[in-house]
Amino acid sequence: MTDIDVTEYSDVWVFVEQHEGHAERVAWELLAEGRRLADAKDEKLVALVFGEDCRAVAEEAVARGADRVLWADDPVFEPYRADPYGEQFRALVADRKPDIVLIGGTHTGRDFAGRVAVPVHAGLTADCTELDVDDEGLLLARRPTFGGDAMATIKCVNHRPQMATVRAGVFDPAPTDPEREGEIEPVEVVVDESMTKSRVLERVVGDVTDITDADIVVAGGAGTDGDFGPIQELADALGGEVAATRAAVDEGWVEPSRQVGQTGKTVRPTLYIAAGISGAIQHLEGMNGSEVVVAINTDPNAPIFDHADYGIVGDLFEVLPELTAMVRGDQEVIV
Ligand SMILES: Cc1cc2nc3c(=O)[nH]c(=O)nc-3n(C[C@H](O)[C@H](O)[C@H](O)COP(=O)(O)OP(=O)(O)OC[C@H]3O[C@@H](n4cnc5c(N)ncnc54)[C@H](O)[C@@H]3O)c2cc1C
Repeated sequence: MTDIDVTEYSDVWVFVEQHEGHAERVAWELLAEGRRLADAKDEKLVALVFGEDCRAVAEEAVARGADRVLWADDPVFEPYRADPYGEQFRALVADRKPDIVLIGGTHTGRDFAGRVAVPVHAGLTADCTELDVDDEGLLLARRPTFGGDAMATIKCVNHRPQMATVRAGVFDPAPTDPEREGEIEPVEVVVDESMTKSRVLERVVGDVTDITDADIVVAGGAGTDGDFGPIQELADALGGEVAATRAAVDEGWVEPSRQVGQTGKTVRPTLYIAAGISGAIQHLEGMNGSEVVVAINTDPNAPIFDHADYGIVGDLFEVLPELTAMVRGDQEVIV
C-alpha cells in the first residue's frame, strides 16, 4: 500500500441511485446531507448519475443541491449490475480524487461500494446513521455497533476517499429548487458489455416492500400475541404498510424487512400507529422521526405514551377494529 497525499482529494460526492429514470429517495436524503458537509468543508457537492436516458435525474440532482453532476449515460448501466457500476465509479474516483463519497445503503449501494473501495484502498464505513465533519474536515461516520448496543464514530485519517454507505430514511430529502444552477458533465463511459461478466436473463421482483418509503405505518408488537390481522386491516384501510417490533419479528410473526428500530429500518411516515408496543429505546430510534404517533396499549404507564401525540389506553383487539371501521366509513365518528 503506497502512501497517498490526502491534500490532493477534495469535494463531496453523492451517488444518485436510479433505476429506469426513477431515483431512490435515499439519493435525495444524501444530497441534503452532502450539501451540509460540502458547505462545512467549503467544497463542491458532486452527484453521480449512471443510467440510460436519465438526464432528467441529473437535472433533479442539480435542483436538489448538486454543484456538478458526473453523468454516465449508456445502456450498459440499465438494468443495474455490480461490475459496470463498480468499474465506472472506480475509474472516476481514481481520476477525480474525491474527498468524501456517500452511497445509499440499499441493495444496489451495498453491492458495488466495495468494488470501488477495495481497489482504490479507500476507507468504507457501512450502514451509517449520522454524518459530520470534524475541525480538520475529516468525515465522522457514525453507525450502531455491538448489535446496536453502542454507537461507533469512524474516521479515516490516512486513506482517501472517505467512503460511507448510509441507511435510508434517516435524513430528510433535499428540497427541489428549479431555479438552482449547476453543471451536468457527461463523462466518458469506460465499460462496455464485453467487459462485464454478468448478464441479466430475467428480472423477478418479489413481494419486498420498503417500509422506509411508507407515508402511513401501522406497527404491531408483542401485544398482538401473533395475530396481526387487525394491524393489517387498519393498514389496508389507511393505504399504509404493516411494520413490527423486534419482539414480533423474532417470534416469526412478521418478516424481518418490516422491523422498525435500531437493528431494523428507520421510518419517517406522516402517521405511525403503534399497537401493543411498549416503546423500548431501540424501537423508538427507528420511528421517532414520524410526524404524528398514535399509541394503543393496555398499560397506561407504557413508555410509548411519552412519545405519542395521541394515546389510547385499551385492548388493540377492540380499538383497532373500531378505528378501521371509522376509516372505512362503516362507523360514525362521535367527538
Ligand atoms: C441490541 C438491541 C437491539 C434491538 N433492536 C430493536 C429494534 O430494532 N426494534 C425493536 O422493536 N426492538 C429492538 N430491540 C428489542 C427492544 O429492546 C424491545 O425488547 C422490543 O422493542 C419490545 O417489543 P414490544 O414492544 O413488541 O414488546 P414488549 O416490550 O413485550 O411490549 C408489549 C406491549 O404490548 C402491550 N399489550 C399487551 N397486550 C396488549 C393488548 N391486547 N392491547 C394493547 N396492548 C397490549 C403491553 O402492555 C406492552 O407494553 C433491541 C434490543 C437490543 C438489546
